[in-house]
Amino acid sequence: MTDTLLPTSIVGSLPKPSWLAKPEVLWSPWELTGDTLAEGKRDALRAAVQEQHRRGLDIVSDGEQTRQHFVTTFIEHLEGVDFEQRETVRIRDRYDASVPTVVGAVSRRKPVFVDDAAFLRGQTDRPIKWALPGPMTMIDTLSDRHYRSREKLAWEFATILNQEARELEAAGVDIIQFDEPAFNVFFDEMTDWGIATLERAAEGLRAETVVHICYGYGIPANNDWKATLGAEWRQYEQSFPLLQRSAIDAVSLESHHSHVPLELIELIRGKKVMLGAIDVARNEIETPDEVADTLRRALQFVDADKLIPSTNCGMAPLPRTVASDKLGALVAGAALLRAELAGADPAVAG
Ligand SMILES: [Zn+2]
Repeated sequence: MTDTLLPTSIVGSLPKPSWLAKPEVLWSPWELTGDTLAEGKRDALRAAVQEQHRRGLDIVSDGEQTRQHFVTTFIEHLEGVDFEQRETVRIRDRYDASVPTVVGAVSRRKPVFVDDAAFLRGQTDRPIKWALPGPMTMIDTLSDRHYRSREKLAWEFATILNQEARELEAAGVDIIQFDEPAFNVFFDEMTDWGIATLERAAEGLRAETVVHICYGYGIPANNDWKATLGAEWRQYEQSFPLLQRSAIDAVSLESHHSHVPLELIELIRGKKVMLGAIDVARNEIETPDEVADTLRRALQFVDADKLIPSTNCGMAPLPRTVASDKLGALVAGAALLRAELAGADPAVAG
């Protein structure tokens, strides 16, 4: 991925500029149309890259500036999905959303994000990461009137995701991330076919692969759900042993301000760990010391050369200046710990 120790990375989204989409809203409609919209998305992507450069991120993402939503934007580009026919469904057993409907066999008629990824590749010399939704999270974010089987549809999506991922890799993407927050909710399906469909989506890739499993954006429905989870959040205990044995290279998880017991990280020993050291559910900016402390405590359970300091989840709903300052805190916190580890080296070599 990169030779830097503790390379920093965001999970995915950054806030969009207000001229592109209404700020601090998820699924926010575009403010532009047609060619102006296409140009606006690219300008926003360029600005997102520049901000990551300015703040010193080691791994650069697109900030999801060209998508309205991390799942539906991908689905809407597929054959067999009717996005005029929207239905309201309950997502991850938590909140209702208007989603597209599967009305026939699904297929990818053309690449979805490959042009955007090639554009991102042209904006930076640093390693780039591209996020796709995972198969299980995709099926949980639509209405299906054709397959009538969550598993069958997940396998179809896995095949499609693999086609897209291979082309992203060919366009120069170094790291491909699959977002599977559904792994924190549907444990039986995850065990039965969720991990297998994820591996199918990642099959044959030379790019590094990441699975991001989180407790969601800082929106009220997620915050209310988290309040019901008790003092210890042990959801990762279900997925981590399976992922440890899987072909996926890295796991992205929530940590800072969460109630996830850190020792659960031991369950993915050997994998790279993208650790969330930035809370995306509140506007208060972490201090570099707080970030370093969160990362340092994880080092009991993950080797330093496998730790990737990151955010808990996407930052789309945050005010733009807050997100930017949080990037700065992440980079400064990682630098503190890096310096500490460099200082400790002679003793370790001892
Ligand atoms: Zn997330």
